[in-house]
Amino acid sequence: VQGSREFHPEDTVIKTKHSIIGGDNFTMMAGPCSVESEEHVMKMAAVAKANGSTILRGGAYKPRTSPYSFQGLGEDGLKFLRRAADQYNMDVLTEVMDDEHVKLVAKYTDIFQIGARNMQNFSLLKAVGKTNIPVMLKRGMSATVDDILNASEYIAAGGNHNIMIAERGIRTFDNKYTRNTMDVGVVPVLQKLTHYPVIIDPSHASGHTEFVTPLALAGVAAGASGLVVEIHDDPAHALSDGPQALKPNEFKELSDKAFAIRELL
Ligand code: PEP
Ligand code: MN
Repeated sequence: VQGSREFHPEDTVIKTKHSIIGGDNFTMMAGPCSVESEEHVMKMAAVAKANGSTILRGGAYKPRTSPYSFQGLGEDGLKFLRRAADQYNMDVLTEVMDDEHVKLVAKYTDIFQIGARNMQNFSLLKAVGKTNIPVMLKRGMSATVDDILNASEYIAAGGNHNIMIAERGIRTFDNKYTRNTMDVGVVPVLQKLTHYPVIIDPSHASGHTEFVTPLALAGVAAGASGLVVEIHDDPAHALSDGPQALKPNEFKELSDKAFAIRELL
């Protein structure tokens, strides 16, 4: 098993143009849930960069629970995201939802995101596995540790070993007050079992702005290699995931504390 520590004892360190992910490095990633317009994503890139992010996230193809919700700007969104990242010397992280889109998204992104809902979309995993573009694989909402590891193996089996695994919360018996339950214990568990960098997404784990920072800091304290955080300057009017978006000043506070905690490890 290529993802196993037994097969490959050293940490995988992923190098992109502006970031080094894994090993002794800590990587901040931030941006809006969806790319909403060129102007907006530019503004969010400035906020992300000013607070230590080297990777700009943003969805152009959105896996919405309802087909009537905003589905993303598609290729225009990818162009806006790319321009914003380039303007601020950042890498692009964006979701690819379908194996037929891999080629198109590859033209614009530095890192593919595989969303929670697609963690076991095996044709998609195989398709990104045939590229040499790093992949952030998000844990499915009901996926066990072995399920994630097996999903990552589909990518590695194709020859792409630049994989990071993101914990974004799972479904449990009580998700009344949080959107999901963040499994902070999975950070050391995955680090024991696999050499891939482990990333925490406190935004989808919590679902509510007020809980994002505590969960992010717990993830950092547990030893995560990075955070991926949703930000928005006007959450009430965000086209997706407004209730969990951090405003610029809130993201600054998260970021300052996250880097400070990381320093203590
Ligand atoms: C997202 O990153 O905006 C997203 C849809 O995440 P997840 O797949 O974890 O729900
Ligand atoms: Mn989102």
